[in-house]
Amino acid sequence: MFIDFKLDNLENFPKELETLLNRHKETIDNIAKNATSYQDGIKITEDLNEELDRFFTPLSHLNSVNNSEATQKAYEESIPLLSSFSSYISQHQELYEKIKSLKPNNELEQRVLDLEIRDFKLSGAELGKEDKKELESINLELSQLSNNFSQNLLNATNDFELIVEPKDVDGMPQSEIEPAKVEIDGETKYRFTLQMPSYIAYLTYGPNREIREKLYRAYNTRAPQNQEVIDKLLELKLKKANLLGYKSYAEYALQTRDASGEEEVLSFLNELLDSSIPQAKEEIAQLKAFAKKLDGIEDLAPYDTAYYSQKLKKELFDFDDSQTKPYFEQNAVLNGMLKLTGELFDVEFKKAEAPTWHESVKVYDIAQNGKTFARIYFDLEARESKRGGAWMHNWQSHYIDAKGKEQLASAFVVANFSPASKEQPSLLRHDDVVTLFHEMGHAIHHLFSKVPERNISGIEGVSWDVVEFPSQFLENFAYEASILKEFGYHYQSKEPIPQDLLDKIKDSKNFQAALFILRQVEFSLFDFQLHQKLYKGEEVNKLINQIRQKTALLKVPDYVRFEHGFAHIFAGGYAAGYYSYKWAEVFSADAFFECLKDGKFNKTRAKEYKENILEKGSSKEMSELYKEWLGRRPQPSALLKLYGIDK
Ligand SMILES: [Zn+2]
Repeated sequence: MFIDFKLDNLENFPKELETLLNRHKETIDNIAKNATSYQDGIKITEDLNEELDRFFTPLSHLNSVNNSEATQKAYEESIPLLSSFSSYISQHQELYEKIKSLKPNNELEQRVLDLEIRDFKLSGAELGKEDKKELESINLELSQLSNNFSQNLLNATNDFELIVEPKDVDGMPQSEIEPAKVEIDGETKYRFTLQMPSYIAYLTYGPNREIREKLYRAYNTRAPQNQEVIDKLLELKLKKANLLGYKSYAEYALQTRDASGEEEVLSFLNELLDSSIPQAKEEIAQLKAFAKKLDGIEDLAPYDTAYYSQKLKKELFDFDDSQTKPYFEQNAVLNGMLKLTGELFDVEFKKAEAPTWHESVKVYDIAQNGKTFARIYFDLEARESKRGGAWMHNWQSHYIDAKGKEQLASAFVVANFSPASKEQPSLLRHDDVVTLFHEMGHAIHHLFSKVPERNISGIEGVSWDVVEFPSQFLENFAYEASILKEFGYHYQSKEPIPQDLLDKIKDSKNFQAALFILRQVEFSLFDFQLHQKLYKGEEVNKLINQIRQKTALLKVPDYVRFEHGFAHIFAGGYAAGYYSYKWAEVFSADAFFECLKDGKFNKTRAKEYKENILEKGSSKEMSELYKEWLGRRPQPSALLKLYGIDK
C-alpha cells in the first residue's frame, strides 16, 4: 500500500544510500550476465528504481520543504553517490547488449525496451571506443561552456548600477521603490540594477523615459563575450549530433520529444504566428494611441511597452490581487478544487491519517468505486525552511512489481501561500489559485496512472515537450467563472465573489495575449532554427533579426544582443526546445475545450481524458494517445480561443 513518510536518521542516510546502491550495482551486473527474459531483467530493474525513489525522495523533499543543516549535509553527501551510480548504469555496455536481446511479451514491454535502448544510444552506446571518448569530452566541454555563459551573464548583471534622483521615481509604487532606496552623502537616492526585480520595476513603473532607455540598453548589451561562447556551443552541439548520426542538433533533440519532425515544429510555430498577427497589430496600435494621448509619445519603443501597458491595463481593468484575495480562503479553495477534480474524473478524496513532515500538511487518499488507488499530500503554506515557488514531487509510482503485486502511487503538492495569522485565515491571490490547479494537474497525471510498467507509468518517461500539458489543462479551469463561483466566498461576509471581478480575472488574463504569443514564437523560432544548421558570429544576430521582421511590431534598436543573455537555451536545457511551452499549451487548450462547453463540464469527455491521457502515462507518445482519444491532432486555434483571439 502506502509507505509512511519518515526520516529519522539523517546522519546515517548517505551510508545507507551507499549500501543500497552497491546492492543495486550487484543486481544490475547479475541481470547483465544472466537475465533471460523481460521478467527477470527489466522487471527487476523497475523494482530497483522504485526502491531507490522511495528511499531517496523523502530526503530531497525534506531538503526543499524543511531545510536544515542536517538535511543539506545528508543531501550534499548523497548527490555524488547518485551521479556516479547513474553513469555506472548508462555506460554499462553489457547491460545494454542484454537489454537489446530481451524479447517483449506485449506492446507496453516493447515500449519500455524501446525507450531504454534509445537512451543508451543517445548516450553513445553504439559508438566505437574513440568516438565514445570524443563524446565524453564534448559533453564535458559543453557543460563548462554553459557554465561560462551563465557566469559571464551573472558578472555583467552584477557590474551595472544606475543611481537616480527622487524625481525619477515619482509615482512609482512604494513597494517597488523601497528596495531601491540608498543614502549617498546624506541624501536619499535610488539605485536600479539589471537584477530582474529591480530592472522590471523600473521598466514597468519608471516615469523617466531616458532612464528606461539606459537600463534597457545596458540590459540588452550585457556580456558581449558570450558571442564567442555561443559560437563554440553551437559548433560542439552540431558535432555531438553528427557523432550520434544526426544531421543537426535540432534533429538529435527531437529524438526524445513528442514532436516528431523539424517541419512539424516549424509549421506549428508559423501557424501560431500567422493567426496571432492581426490581433497583435491591434494591440500595439491601441498601446501606441494610449502613449500618444498620455505623454505625446510619437515613436513608441521596446523600452516603453511595459510602462504604458501597465498604465493601460490599470485604466481598462482597475484590478489587482487585493480585490479578489478575500474571496479565496485556502481551505475553501482546496476543498473546491478537490470537489471539482472528484466530479470531473469520478473519484473521491478522503482525508487520511498519515505521518507527515509538518503539522500543516494535509493528506488525502484517492478512491474510485470504493477502492483506494493513490495518496496525495498538500503542503501549501510558506515557512522559513521551505524554498520558494510551487511544485509537484512524485514519490511512489503505480505499477505491477516483479512479484506480480500492484503498487500504488503517491505524490506531494507544495506551494508557498501566505500562512494564516491571528487576524485572518490564509487567503490566496488569484495567481495562487491558478498555481494550485497547475500543480494538481501534474499530480493527477502521476497518480491516475494504470500502467503496469513503472518506467512508463505516471509522469515517468513523459517527453518534456508535453509534461506541462496536464498541468496547464487543469490550470485553465481556474479562470472559469462557473468554477470560481463554486468556492469563491468572502471569508468574513460569506458573500459570493461578484460577477465583475470574475470578468476582470478573465479579461486581464487576455490583455495583450497576441503580443505575448508573438514574443514566445520569436524566441521559439530563433532557438529552433539556430539548431538546424551551423550559424557563426554575426549570422546569429542576423537570424534573429530576420525572424523579427515578422514577429516584432516595434523596431528593435540595432544595439540589442538579446542572444547574449538567452540563458534558457545556452545555459539551461532548452536548446531546440523553447517551442515546448507552446506545444504543451496547445494540447491543454484543445483538451480543455473538449471537456468544458459553455461553462459546463462535459463529463463524458472528462472521463475519456482521464482514461486516454492521464491513466496512460508515457505508454505511447502523447500525440498518439491524443489521436486515439479524439481521432485528430490538437488544434493551434484552440490556444487562440483560450486567449480570446478567435474573434
Ligand atoms: Zn508545471
